Amino acid sequence: MQKEDCIFCKIARGEIPSGKIYEDDEVFAFRDINPKAPVHFLIIPKKHIESLAHCEAVDTPLLGKMLALARTLALQEGCGNGFRVVINTGRDGGQEVPHLHVHVMGGPQPWK
Ligand code: 5GP
Ligand code: ZN
Repeated sequence: MQKEDCIFCKIARGEIPSGKIYEDDEVFAFRDINPKAPVHFLIIPKKHIESLAHCEAVDTPLLGKMLALARTLALQEGCGNGFRVVINTGRDGGQEVPHLHVHVMGGPQPWK
């Protein structure tokens, strides 16, 4: 299920341009519009899940897939010396866009 007015659902549908780096039937990965590191991309599920806190048991394989994809894409993007994976969750977790997303950041320091 997607949400009509959700910006990340729109990106996943291709309705808003994004720097897409990967897509399949379940997930979509694209460059962050305001990068905090030389490499900074986001991985989202195509189905609308508000946050990590809203995931259910049925979402466990999807979460595993997103984490494995973080590794694959980080290496593909040249982050062989290391990278950071972050999932901001909810208001106190600093989440601004209410559609689950995995941040992947990397590239030569300093940037943190
Ligand atoms: P959050 O704070 O919710 O964990 O992170 C949301 C991230 O989404 C931010 O890093 C922000 O720069 C990124 N972002 C927000 N809107 C857009 C957009 O329209 N396109 C892209 N590519 N990134 C976005
Ligand atoms: Zn959404």
